[in-house]
Amino acid sequence: MRTLHVCSELFPLLKTGGLADVAGALPLAQARHGVDARILLPGFPAIMAGLHDAREVAQLDTFAGPVRLLCGRTANGLTLFVIDAPLLYERPGNPYHDANQIAYADNPQRFAVLGWVAALLANGLDAQWQPEVVHGHDWHAGLAFAYLAALGRPAKSVFTIHNLAYQGVFPASFHAELALPAHFFDVHGVEYHGRISFMKAGIFFADRITTVSPSYAAEITTPEQGCGLDGLLRGRSTVLSGILNGVDDAIWNPAIDSLIPARYSAERMLGKAKCKTALQEACGLDVTSDKPLFAVVSRLTEQKGLHLVLACLKEITSRGGQVVVLGSGDAEMECAFSEAAASDPANVAMRIGYDEDFAHRIMAGSDVIMVPSRYEPCGLTQLYGLKYGALPLVRRVGGLADTVIDCTLENLADGCATGMVFDEFSVDGFAQGVRRAFALWSRPKDWKAVRSRAMSMDFGWDHAAIEYAGLYRVLLAAT
Ligand code: ADP
Repeated sequence: MRTLHVCSELFPLLKTGGLADVAGALPLAQARHGVDARILLPGFPAIMAGLHDAREVAQLDTFAGPVRLLCGRTANGLTLFVIDAPLLYERPGNPYHDANQIAYADNPQRFAVLGWVAALLANGLDAQWQPEVVHGHDWHAGLAFAYLAALGRPAKSVFTIHNLAYQGVFPASFHAELALPAHFFDVHGVEYHGRISFMKAGIFFADRITTVSPSYAAEITTPEQGCGLDGLLRGRSTVLSGILNGVDDAIWNPAIDSLIPARYSAERMLGKAKCKTALQEACGLDVTSDKPLFAVVSRLTEQKGLHLVLACLKEITSRGGQVVVLGSGDAEMECAFSEAAASDPANVAMRIGYDEDFAHRIMAGSDVIMVPSRYEPCGLTQLYGLKYGALPLVRRVGGLADTVIDCTLENLADGCATGMVFDEFSVDGFAQGVRRAFALWSRPKDWKAVRSRAMSMDFGWDHAAIEYAGLYRVLLAAT
């Protein structure tokens, strides 16, 4: 089965969030399960730099100007189609916005071209390789599904929603510019409250819609979590399902991770103690094995619920815990965590920025990873926490609910608990989770049993690869 993934990020070349991890790992796992998966990306500088042995597939005159389509390989063996268009993509830093966090004004054209080229590839643009399935990810790929529909659906299509909150909504005037059929600007099409929505295009036109956890698939059909698209999603619920993301075991695995000070596994935990000491030293915290070390590795946005952590910092430190935060985003939150760290440097540390290597060292060195999200489509950090024996303290929502089992007495007795789960999105709700973490910490035997269970969980990509392959097969059989 030939599948073309369409997305805007790819680990390790370019990453702003979990989407990049998925794009980097899923196609490799799919190759193990009979899927010939390739990826179409915009030619951002980091992507161009990571492309090797490229051949030119085509030169195209598009509504956004001339582009060249290249096909090459990455160092780790992925085959990429890359849209080489310096005027659209040759900008340093973040792929979506400038250094002042202002979205690029030509984002409609930049990402419409991505969808346009995907549809052309499905229509036979490359004589050497034609996808049978186009699998687009998030709003950046949304228009691919409209263009496919306009071309008479030359391939089957799957649209995966990684985060419904980011929708790519632009003024209606762009509709004419983007070479979409006029009648697609309709409530049964790409129109969304008088504007054009890339996310809606994906949801409306794709043959199948998936999201990255079963719970999130259900949640987005409700007004609370539907971000204005719940009505449409309810209407398409028969083709909507959730497939959990996985973890790339070659990258996130404490037994072989060269980014951490010492390697360890559930059977040989000495290395984790060394990693904790090293992390405390690196952060200027009191070096002690007695205090549970709570960590955050996150974008600092409203979604992630980190104001709850801020409100409970005292609760954690007064009970004898320590906190380390790695994150960037919301300036007020960066400031608030920095101030908290300055006023109690022995117990609280804040590292502002995006640092992949340090994220590994935090997972290895901490005891608890906190993910108190308002909503969470899947969440990867809690999965990394499980693998590294940093017990997740999470809210019961989305993928967090699907991947962490609360340490209730019953679950402890059954030996299935893997972390702490709280329900209510409030300071009180989160504080209860914190208290449960301390209660477990005070019973070292139980703590070790839960940690061992957490580390044995299998969140490999093979499960997802098999499920997606099944989905493609059903679609192709319906031809
Ligand atoms: P989202 O995609 O909403 O940001 P996920 O949990 O799905 O959330 O994925 C986040 C990914 O980004 C994880 O791989 C996490 O380790 C990484 N990450 C987030 N913030 C940082 C940071 N400041 N430094 C390094 N890695 C980060």
